[in-house]
Amino acid sequence: MRSKAVVGNWKLNGSLGSNEALLKGLLAEVGREPLSVACAVCVPTPYLWQVRALLEGSGIAWGAQDVSRFDKGAYTGEVSGAMLVEHGCRYVIVGHSERRTVFGESDEVSAEKYVAARKAGLTPIFCVGETLEERDKGVTRSVLGRQVDALVGKYGVAGLDGGLIAYEPVWAIGTGRTATPQQAQDVHAFIRGRIAAADRGVAETLTILYGGSVKAGNAAQLFAMPDVDGGLIGGASLAADEFVAICRAAQDAKETVKA
Ligand code: PEP
Repeated sequence: MRSKAVVGNWKLNGSLGSNEALLKGLLAEVGREPLSVACAVCVPTPYLWQVRALLEGSGIAWGAQDVSRFDKGAYTGEVSGAMLVEHGCRYVIVGHSERRTVFGESDEVSAEKYVAARKAGLTPIFCVGETLEERDKGVTRSVLGRQVDALVGKYGVAGLDGGLIAYEPVWAIGTGRTATPQQAQDVHAFIRGRIAAADRGVAETLTILYGGSVKAGNAAQLFAMPDVDGGLIGGASLAADEFVAICRAAQDAKETVKA
């Protein structure tokens, strides 16, 4: 059986005061009825200590939104995987489309970050996705194939065992325009098939999240698809009731069983 997960991506949002209110809201919801699905928030790095202080022992994990591909040295501004581990991080997002487009990170750099995160003992969430222009041109599969192959080529297919992939169509991120459940399913099945060509066992156990305007109102339909194993949630992770409702939708979705 594949594990399911819902991970919040706070992006460049938050303050000590608003984080505390949000985290206490999450804890109140989870305190009422504990979650049986993996649930985490990936927060701006300066707030990791605060998130740890509030979430430790709660069943909600935490992580970062980026990691250096380097371990140490003269790399001003970078944060290593080992540093994130010292803050109790379990997850780290790598290769998010905002890192790729705004900060010019390539497939290769994203794959190197994934490797660095795994070596540090983190669970990286490797993001892939096509732009609207690429979808309209009909090159979605070749774009995703290239992004996935960069990772497999860098680390070997065995390196994906225990990691997570997030399919995030760029046109659906923060736009309110969600992929239909069938569009998400088609791409997730394509990604799993691409990995299965190298190793069927790894492909079957790989958790593939969908991200792109997931809300409490559309999560259940998306998570009902056989290859959608949970979500990476941006905007809706900033509201406690909305985020917990999405986690509960993943929990209630039908079990995905190994072939
Ligand atoms: C994201 O940034 O990873 C994301 C999925 O954002 P949103 O849910 O706001 O579309």
